[in-house]
Amino acid sequence: MMLQLAKCFLVSSCLMGTVATAETSDAPPFAIAIHGGAGTIEKASMTPEKERAYRTKLEEAVNAGYGVLEQGGSSLDAVVAAINILEDSPLFNAGKGAVYTYDGTHELDASIMDGRDRQAGAVAGVKHIANPINLARMVMEDSPFVMLAGQGAEDFAKSRGVPMVDNKTFDTEQRRQQLERVKEKLDKENKQDKDYRAAVEALPEPFRMGTVGAVALDNEGNLAAGTSTGGMTAKRYGRIGDSPVIGAGTFADNKSCAVSATGHGEYFIRYNVAADICSRVEYQSKSVAQAAGEVINDILLPVGGTGGVIVLDGEGNIALTFNTKGMYRASRVAGQKPVIGIFEKD
Ligand code: ASP
Repeated sequence: MMLQLAKCFLVSSCLMGTVATAETSDAPPFAIAIHGGAGTIEKASMTPEKERAYRTKLEEAVNAGYGVLEQGGSSLDAVVAAINILEDSPLFNAGKGAVYTYDGTHELDASIMDGRDRQAGAVAGVKHIANPINLARMVMEDSPFVMLAGQGAEDFAKSRGVPMVDNKTFDTEQRRQQLERVKEKLDKENKQDKDYRAAVEALPEPFRMGTVGAVALDNEGNLAAGTSTGGMTAKRYGRIGDSPVIGAGTFADNKSCAVSATGHGEYFIRYNVAADICSRVEYQSKSVAQAAGEVINDILLPVGGTGGVIVLDGEGNIALTFNTKGMYRASRVAGQKPVIGIFEKD
């Protein structure tokens, strides 16, 4: 049964894997893809209004990044422009719509990587930063470090003049209800964090997903990737997922591809998902669709790792691959219209 399911996802993800290829004419091959999280997203469980709201926001974000590229801006600028729009929206689990920790607060993670030279920056467990992707970029460009966590990351932000926001800025009613449901389940079964995963997976959608990310290719042929998240509901003990971990949730190298991931972070860390996909592209000459399909469907799914990735190579080939029922996603290649998707067959 599981095998059949894996195959089915492999075929469907291959079918939808490569959504577009940049034109080989004189047109510059710039391109961008974004995601807003993967999970059990089904049309039947979503109102038309809600679906419209997601599609509109995804389109706004992909167009913002596309606009930067169209004007000759860098892939890093495009990634940040797209992610900022998703971070500022309560619809997604990043910035404004971040999930709650077990203790009722919000702890945000983000990372960014430059495909030109593998420079990277990341922040983990920050509580007072409105747009963590911007701080991750500052770590990359304005510090000798790659990853800063917690209070230290915020001290660095203050030293660079980044305003602090109240943690309550990230409160939303929907996410509050989500936390209560997880805690109720954990407490009722008296399992506490031992059965954390089952409790989280028992949540109805769209509660469990929403991490955001972007990958872009600019006019100069440079790739970049970025990811921003509130992590997983009811996380505790300073838990950090894959999103700020370079190689797991984010990776970019002009020699292979750019990747941003979303899903159950512990699996993405253990399987080094983003870097593994790019290694297959670089060392085995696989297409981004094939490499992403292998890692997401053949490796992660059999061990229970759910989620998806957006992948882009230096020729503008895009793979939007997931082993869940859906993934909020959008892409746009030079000279073409944006393509928006939510469900498996979209
Ligand atoms: N990958 C994120 C984490 O584990 C969550 C997600 O993408 O939904 O923190």
